[in-house]
Amino acid sequence: MSDSPGADNGLDLYVIAQQQFERALSWIDDLKAGLIDYLVTPKRTVHVRFPIHMDDDSVRTFHGFRVLHNTARGPGKGGIRYHPDVTEHEVAALAALMTWKTALMDLPFGGAKGGVVCNPKALSRAELRRITRRFVIELGDAIGPHTDIPAPDVYTNEQTMAWIFDTFDAFHKGQNNRAVVTGKPLRLGGSLGRDSATGRGCLNATQRFLTHGIAHGLDGLAGAKVAIQGLGNVGANSMKLFHEAGATIVCVSDSQGGVADDGGLDPGEVMAHKAEHGSVVGLPETRTITNEDLLAWDCDILIPAALECQVRDDNAADVKAKLVVEAANAPITPEADEILQERGVTVLPDIVANGGGVVVSYFEWVQNLQNQQWPLDEVETRLQAKMQAATDAIVERWKQIRDDNDRKGSRSPTLRDAALVEAIRRMSDVILQRDIWM
Ligand code: NAD
Repeated sequence: MSDSPGADNGLDLYVIAQQQFERALSWIDDLKAGLIDYLVTPKRTVHVRFPIHMDDDSVRTFHGFRVLHNTARGPGKGGIRYHPDVTEHEVAALAALMTWKTALMDLPFGGAKGGVVCNPKALSRAELRRITRRFVIELGDAIGPHTDIPAPDVYTNEQTMAWIFDTFDAFHKGQNNRAVVTGKPLRLGGSLGRDSATGRGCLNATQRFLTHGIAHGLDGLAGAKVAIQGLGNVGANSMKLFHEAGATIVCVSDSQGGVADDGGLDPGEVMAHKAEHGSVVGLPETRTITNEDLLAWDCDILIPAALECQVRDDNAADVKAKLVVEAANAPITPEADEILQERGVTVLPDIVANGGGVVVSYFEWVQNLQNQQWPLDEVETRLQAKMQAATDAIVERWKQIRDDNDRKGSRSPTLRDAALVEAIRRMSDVILQRDIWM
């Protein structure tokens, strides 16, 4: 990914996460105050600084951190990002998001996230390898198959995960260490289907959601007009899979701009043009559009699949889609959420819509612990079941709190409120059943 837009827009992900959490708490009146503090703050943050020998013979000191938000349901799970603007605050917010996501997906994990402040675009492969290895050595037993399990995130990939596994393995001889990290290359214990998991999960959740008949006037994907922002892992897979499911992809974009064709784009042609020219812009027989145009496009479903804070108070009123599916993390600000709700636009929130990635990461972890490799169709069938169960759970929760509210005459909840209420409830049940306090 090319950017850290929350910071660019002066929007702070940590503040947004707190606002969303507090809003959800207005539908929960029986949580002890101390428990709320425990749920909202990270359990542990590890900071490390380490020197690296650069290719030009200089030495530079790097700063990395790993935030473990909560482990009540199991070991921490979450990506590691390499980015010049990454901050502890941003990573803490994303770690909390992972706690809610793993609870909603009903996985035996807690939430975590990590980062190293660096600019991967200005580093050689050898420098990135040395940074990764030293970072893992410094983290020591802060990560491990049963403590905290990293995965790829912004500007880290399966090669980074291979280095993490190899370094951890070198310091923990004589045990099966594959489950220390997910998103690995296939031959190092990666799972079939991990690459497309987030896009596929997004499709599964959307299809299931539409069967509930609560997305104003939308009852299926056949012929539905879809706009997708971002064509990386999540956006490109979503484009292909929504197209195969019968939707018409009317416009797509990347960091250079976008293209539109109301008659429908061909995903194969879009990706071939992007591979050849570095961007979708210029695809023959399409209109060139901006990212702002895309967000305001006349479509049924808008899928932001790129960056945080894309739909804000200054452009939410322009959104014409009936349903926004949050494939990216936190693409809608709290102010925009309220505007969309007032205008009757439904939002399928990130902690459900993009949960497919962590679900298949969990499958990878299980396969690693059991020294197995599941066939692709088994991975996809199990993923679909998880996505459907999570979608049904938030719709049920939404109906319950909406009906309670109707009785009380207060404001109606969004699906994000319902998803967070459901996740917080699941977390507090586990904490109460474990009798976690001393
Ligand atoms: P990626 O780096 O593969 O792709 C990001 C895409 O966004 C690129 O195509 C880039 O060109 C595009 N982009 C950058 N700036 C843009 C702009 N201003 N306008 C339009 N497009 C722009 O990243 P990804 O893995 O696909 O992740 C995308 C989002 O999904 C992130 O929010 C990420 O946290 C979230 N997510 C990813 C996964 C996963 O499994 N990869 C899982 C859950 C959530």
